[in-house]
Amino acid sequence: MAREGKFITPRRNSRQIMVGGVPVGGKSPVTVQSMTTTKTHDVDGTLSQIYALAGAGCDIVRCTCNEVEAAVGLAQIVPRSPLPIVADIHFHVEMALAALEAGVAGLRLNPGNLRKPEEIKLVAREAKDRNVPIRIGVNAGSLHPDLYKKYGGATPEALVESALTELNLFREVDFEDVKISVKASNVVLMIEAYRMLAEMTDHPLHLGVTEAGPPPNGLIKATAGIATLLAEGIGDTIRYSLTADPVEEVKAGRTLLESLGLRERRGLDLIACPSCGRAEIDVIALAKEAQTELEKLNLPIQVAVMGCVVNGPGEAREADLGIAGGRGKGHLIIKGKIVRVVKEDEMVKALVEEAQKLVAEGYEARLAAADPNAEAEAARDREELLEAKGTDANNSSVRIENIKRRVTEE
Ligand code: SF4
Repeated sequence: MAREGKFITPRRNSRQIMVGGVPVGGKSPVTVQSMTTTKTHDVDGTLSQIYALAGAGCDIVRCTCNEVEAAVGLAQIVPRSPLPIVADIHFHVEMALAALEAGVAGLRLNPGNLRKPEEIKLVAREAKDRNVPIRIGVNAGSLHPDLYKKYGGATPEALVESALTELNLFREVDFEDVKISVKASNVVLMIEAYRMLAEMTDHPLHLGVTEAGPPPNGLIKATAGIATLLAEGIGDTIRYSLTADPVEEVKAGRTLLESLGLRERRGLDLIACPSCGRAEIDVIALAKEAQTELEKLNLPIQVAVMGCVVNGPGEAREADLGIAGGRGKGHLIIKGKIVRVVKEDEMVKALVEEAQKLVAEGYEARLAAADPNAEAEAARDREELLEAKGTDANNSSVRIENIKRRVTEE
């Protein structure tokens, strides 16, 4: 179960809209979005990317609809897609209308690029007739030039005004099936704009730091912006805009929501110690190998990889399954209990086998199948290690005494 995030401000009350079969806003779970990087006219290529995104936990996917061929592609993609498709529209009203014809579940309009009020209202009317929601997708980098001039730049006020102006045009044709984003690559600007917007409307908000860049910096920037707002109760759907395979965007989005307790864990959660002077094994290599092998199983399980048998079992106590390395061996741990001691070079294999059995048979069965000698063998390993290295592996108490003596002598 997701842990109740008590530090998180209760979610802002937003109205709920439906993107295909996926609810966004209201009390529905915060959803994860991504965007395909294929040419939309490449139907098979785009669909194969959409399937990969769905497998990684994506809820809604966006495809560009920038030319007639893309709209034709969408008409073939939509009926075969496992996820609702949102068409991304920038300059051409015809593309918005063609995407609606193709049966998309949502549109994204950029008010900075599609500017004529009559055209915007025409799209809203057509979307209304089909019960298709629209995202007003304001972007600091393509802000309407009038607003840029009025505010002397892309300020939070300018981004919010752009969104609300478009919303008012929609209201003129009685269309409210709308979610809104006010993205910027500047994290502080983006946070301020969303905070302001959250006060002014109850429409669901789509969060993102646009053009965040490649990982790891892009991941950090996007997380700084999205997580800050989510912790304040703001945000109904999120997208990591990374310069990377879109599957990475989805993994990042899922990990963020799961770590904040906003979504149930659906796959592997690998925790690993950062390693330190006590480490008896190459924790980084072991954690990487374990991650690669366990990810293939796609099991909803938390696994801990710890570098030593002194602190490892304690630190891994909360995980479903763990392994602590040391003295040429690995101590395999289920919910804090050592169930087997394996050779160091068999640790990943043991983890993979036990993860499968644990999910198939459950804790009680696996604890009952524990090697009765494992706890005693592990205790011996721990004692040997403590004897060899002491409880103070870095000899800090000796060092401190030496420093004290030197200081006194001086
Ligand atoms: S588990 Fe052991 S090796 Fe890893 S950080 Fe903790 S003390 Fe260091």
